[in-house]
Amino acid sequence: MTDATPADCLPEPIAAAPRPRHPTEGVLVGEGPGAVRIGGGAPIVVQSMTNTDTADVEATVAQVMALAQAGSEIVRITVDRDEAAAAVPHIRDRLRARGCHAPLVGDFHYIGHKLLADHPACAQALDKYRINPGNVGFKDKKDAQFAAIVETAIRHGKAVRIGANWGSLDQEMLAALMDQNARAPAPIDAMAVTREALVRSALGSAALAEEIGLPKDRIVLSAKVSAVQGLVSVYRMLAARADYALHLGLTEAGMGTKGVVASSAALGVLLQEGIGDTIRVSLTPEPGGDRTREVQVAQEILQTMGFRTFVPLVAACPGCGRTTSTVFQELARDIQDHIRDRMPEWRRIYPGVEALNVAVMGCIVNGPGESKHADIGISLPGTGETPAAPVFIDGSKAMTLRGAGIADEFKSIVESYVERRFGARGATGA
Ligand code: SF4
Repeated sequence: MTDATPADCLPEPIAAAPRPRHPTEGVLVGEGPGAVRIGGGAPIVVQSMTNTDTADVEATVAQVMALAQAGSEIVRITVDRDEAAAAVPHIRDRLRARGCHAPLVGDFHYIGHKLLADHPACAQALDKYRINPGNVGFKDKKDAQFAAIVETAIRHGKAVRIGANWGSLDQEMLAALMDQNARAPAPIDAMAVTREALVRSALGSAALAEEIGLPKDRIVLSAKVSAVQGLVSVYRMLAARADYALHLGLTEAGMGTKGVVASSAALGVLLQEGIGDTIRVSLTPEPGGDRTREVQVAQEILQTMGFRTFVPLVAACPGCGRTTSTVFQELARDIQDHIRDRMPEWRRIYPGVEALNVAVMGCIVNGPGESKHADIGISLPGTGETPAAPVFIDGSKAMTLRGAGIADEFKSIVESYVERRFGARGATGA
């Protein structure tokens, strides 16, 4: 006989929280209303990159605006030749004139030192420069060209991302490390040597930039690879050895589902370990596809992991043999689209609306239970059930919808709820 209560028999709770953020030096990028802080405890920043020809001012302005409106807080553009560098100040001016203040990052390879020297207006218009230590120059010119870019950043007060990349690793450093490893009593495998070279390339370049005079609070580091496990190892090494602000991203993540899954897996592991101050999801769009998808995926990674809140969440069950019609799939999609369409206005007039939770469920098995956990939920009738859809608001059954107009009625219930809950808060400033 024991007098233990059921509560005494419960197992020890297992913590479900991410580890504390890896402490890093904060880096302010940009100025004025669009300025963004990366690292130093700031919220994890979403960024993206255009795929237009930067020399095409209108196309680049349109894409930067689309990315910024989708939620990209920093946008990177390619600066690969004179025409592109000459276009940058015009792009910046048109964006600002149209009310877009997202900081602009210039992506430089091979001739960045020359472009920045020949186009001082470009150097001034950009908020941050991205340089890759693996292709900033070759042999004895490498350090001088790297120094020239860093000195330009110092002169103009700009931040720099030192972005090492698996595909353009400093071959001299790699060869030296491979030789050293081959002579070691217990050589490690070649992949581990390559990861070490990547990390040393990023950290060595950052140390050199500091020696030249760029303060640590203007340096962001990245070391991207295209394999999930490789990326996790490399960033664990970077975080263990330094406190520079870290830009996370899986390079060449790929197209469609593969790109989304690989990026989510890699970034999810690192973010859960507290590693990463800004993220970019590098998706290859379908020809003519929407570039803003990478912003949406980055936001969803951060939101589903609980780091930030960007848009109301719509929880929907996957459907199964209990709901053989497509009604609930259509309603889930309609509601998701409706919320995304309404968000630009909602965000402006209903502060806090991002925290809204909506559930759209396919039958009575989990429908009422899940709907009660959401702010607003609807449980649609499954196959053979009475054709009625109970709606739950703040955990209680509020009404039952019937007939062909369920989708429209439910959308207007969501609208009224948002107005009542978030409109009042906005009006009172609470
Ligand atoms: S809620 Fe119903 S329809 Fe949806 S997955 Fe569960 S059992 Fe299937």
